[in-house]
Amino acid sequence: MLASGFVLAIHGGAGVLPRDDMSPEREAAYHAALGRVLAAGQSVLTADGAALDAVTAAVMALEDEPLFNAGRGAVFTRDGRHEMDAAIMDGRGRRAGAVAGIAGVRNPVLLARAVMERTDHVLMAGTGALQIARAAGLAFEDDAYFYTQERWDSLQETLRMEADGTLDDDPSRRHGTVGAVALDRAGNLAAATSTGGMTGKRAGRIGDSPIIGAGTFADDTTCAVSATGDGEAFIRLLVAHEIDARIRLGAQPMSEAARAVVIDDLSAIGGSGGLISLARDGALVMPFNCEGMYRGCVRDGGAPETHIY
Ligand code: ASP
Repeated sequence: MLASGFVLAIHGGAGVLPRDDMSPEREAAYHAALGRVLAAGQSVLTADGAALDAVTAAVMALEDEPLFNAGRGAVFTRDGRHEMDAAIMDGRGRRAGAVAGIAGVRNPVLLARAVMERTDHVLMAGTGALQIARAAGLAFEDDAYFYTQERWDSLQETLRMEADGTLDDDPSRRHGTVGAVALDRAGNLAAATSTGGMTGKRAGRIGDSPIIGAGTFADDTTCAVSATGDGEAFIRLLVAHEIDARIRLGAQPMSEAARAVVIDDLSAIGGSGGLISLARDGALVMPFNCEGMYRGCVRDGGAPETHIY
């Protein structure tokens, strides 16, 4: 059964501030930012635009928002740099593009899309990826643009806790990511994800976000997925592809498949995080196994919703 209208869902990562540290002002700022992002994607879909364009617009807005760990506001590697990963996938025919470990490109999701549209490749890194960005005329920014004091402080705290032997698992200090999934009025799905990765990661570490089938996936016949959390666990489980396979091969309803993978499988290997998963019939779930996940959704003709915990 096909849905009767569009659906858009977004996330701003599973690295939410613990409830006790969240002030009312800060909480309001997150909801307002998520609302602006939904509006950016929704305006594409209400004009009969493609799911692919809607997830691109939503993830660009998330990357531009310093509250979230992607683009401006990305976390720092252990040597104080930014290395960003991003991916995009079109549910029509499983076209995909992704970039890993890039720096300087204002909107990594646009570079992922350029890889998909301008090359024969799916995943690119290094100088070759930056050449594609230049050829596509994408905007570059200097280090100051990506810098936020809060992320810098998180890195210093992480390094100090490592040295003290007191490092804990607090997701709000360690990670975050942004992503979007959409179903358009023509019945097509798309997904996009973008991240600075994990605070204090080693240079060259690549997470799940740009790995098609791990942190990002879309196929019109099954689902669109964007994930956030401990990237290594999401790669080991190939989380997004696992949901697709449970639907396609196991005839499991999408909502059951997505919950089982996050609540059972991810927890079983000690991974924390969550995801947004949208089925071709418009069913949407946003499961997480940690304290919260910045998230929101809007349906054709409906009012936008945003949630944190
Ligand atoms: N999954 C991201 C990564 O491992 C981080 C996150 O979503 O928190 O790079």
